[in-house]
Amino acid sequence: MAWDFETEPEFQRELAWMDVFLRDEVEPLDFVLGNPYDPKDVRGRDHVRRLKERVKERGLWACHLGPELGGHGFGQLKLALMNELLGRSRWAPSIFGCQAPDSGNAEILAHYGTPQQKERYLKPLLEGEIVSCYSMTEPHAGADPTMFRTRAVRDGDHWVINGEKWFSSNARWASFLIVMAVTDPDVSPYQGMSMFIVPAETPGIQILRNVGVGDENPDHASHAYIRYRDVRVPADHLLGKPGGAFVIAQTRLGGGRIHHAMRTMAQLRRAFDMMCERALSRETQGELLANKQMVQEKIADSWIEIEQFRLLVLRTAWLIDKYKDYKKVRKDIAAVKVLLPKVLHDVVYRAMHLHGALGVSNEMPFASMLLGAAALGIADGPTEVHKVTVARQLLREYKKSDGLFPSAHLPTRRAAARERLAHLIEGEVGNL
Ligand SMILES: Cc1cc2nc3c(=O)[nH]c(=O)nc-3n(C[C@H](O)[C@H](O)[C@H](O)COP(=O)(O)OP(=O)(O)OC[C@H]3O[C@@H](n4cnc5c(N)ncnc54)[C@H](O)[C@@H]3O)c2cc1C
Repeated sequence: MAWDFETEPEFQRELAWMDVFLRDEVEPLDFVLGNPYDPKDVRGRDHVRRLKERVKERGLWACHLGPELGGHGFGQLKLALMNELLGRSRWAPSIFGCQAPDSGNAEILAHYGTPQQKERYLKPLLEGEIVSCYSMTEPHAGADPTMFRTRAVRDGDHWVINGEKWFSSNARWASFLIVMAVTDPDVSPYQGMSMFIVPAETPGIQILRNVGVGDENPDHASHAYIRYRDVRVPADHLLGKPGGAFVIAQTRLGGGRIHHAMRTMAQLRRAFDMMCERALSRETQGELLANKQMVQEKIADSWIEIEQFRLLVLRTAWLIDKYKDYKKVRKDIAAVKVLLPKVLHDVVYRAMHLHGALGVSNEMPFASMLLGAAALGIADGPTEVHKVTVARQLLREYKKSDGLFPSAHLPTRRAAARERLAHLIEGEVGNL
């Protein structure tokens, strides 16, 4: 039997160490330090460096990467168990060297980058010395990348990029941006778009504004609306092959989506813990909330949904490790992506509701968690698009029925069974 739902004891010891380290050393940073991506914010920099050193000494740094890139090649399943803990804190992924979007950008640089590109961009990214940006979505089109218009034209030894990008997260702090642009408008977009590594200091990159999520303070807003005007990048800054943008995007986004789901488990657990604590702490009409059946229903439904989601995430991580090919798990990753915002929304909403006025107040984290669920239903592609992927992939496993009636048509099946097993019913009279 190959099925196993247990973590090996040696790795469980690492997870236990992480649990305590995160609780005591990392989670408090969320309340006293600024944005982990902001290289100009030097507060606590030495302290953070020491914490990163401890993670490296423990052998838990950049665990999404193989040993050739300074990681430990733990694979996606172990990464999932780690991310379930790391998702508890804004600072944790950076301190463990596996923060989005840098982890996804590192993955494509490692996969498609030339030795020079790796030396100049990947190395400092993996060391945690710089941060990066993935600049793909445009103001007029997001879910359908075939509509992108940003253009890159070859001019001697350079490519010249013109266009606008929208919601390019962390651009304001990034040392380089990975930009998707049309390089050949005369062929299908699937062959006519390419990826470029664009150093942030290149003339012509203008951040029109940084957009925030919800009522985020504009000073902290991190999703850039960017104009690229005659941005010249050397020809060797093309990432991968000309026309290869879609293939690269799929590699990048597949990993990114499942990593978001892993970290979401931490949010779900937190919401569930708060829900249970509240139910056991608050009394009304002479009894605890925990004794009310409608409250019990919320707790039971939440636990069941969380466990279902977790199993789907872990199984998908296991499949990625097994096939080592995101294309073979497209359906599974898309299913996780569809379920993620729904489960997070439903569990957080119930937890918030059970906290009454306190729940919707700015003294509890529920409102931002709820907005986070909405954002996760859009970022990396909206739910509808992923449902289409799930359905299309599933339908490939079926074929149309041959006859007038469906293959499950009972009279047809009965007739076939009677013919096949005629020897059992020989001599029988009547119409069974
Ligand atoms: C927090 C956050 C961070 C992001 N970070 C980045 C980043 O770093 N880099 C980057 O390039 N982009 C980023 N994005 C952008 C994200 O990838 C896009 O928002 C996403 O692809 C959807 O595009 P859109 O916003 O243009 O929505 P649209 O494409 O306009 O879609 C709007 C809505 O239309 C519906 N819809 C769309 N397509 C279909 C369909 N086929 N069938 C049925 N209904 C449909 C859905 O309800 C969808 O939500 C980020 C987004 C968020 C929210």
